[in-house]
This record gives sequence, structure tokens and C-alpha cells, in this order.
Amino acid sequence: MNAASACPQCSMENTYPDGARYVCADCGHAWSESARSDILKKA
Ligand SMILES: [Zn+2]
Repeated sequence: MNAASACPQCSMENTYPDGARYVCADCGHAWSESARSDILKKA
């Protein structure tokens, strides 16, 4: 399963939910789930 959100900045999947956001453990980038779905549409 690929349930984890991939980081929109570095594309790593080493991420974790932090309240309403996700945080990337690799680069420290934080984003919201709504932003993620927008990025997936562009890709
Ligand atoms: Zn990242």
C-alpha cells in the first residue's frame, strides 16, 4: 500500500501527519493534504 503522502518538495515518502498537515522527515517541508491533491493533478 502507498497510503503515505509523498513530500511535494523532495518526493520522499518518509512523512508523517502533524495535526492538519503532513511533515516530511527528510527535508522538513510541511504541507496540507489539500495542497497535495492539487500537486497530484498537475503531475
Ligand atoms: Zn521532503
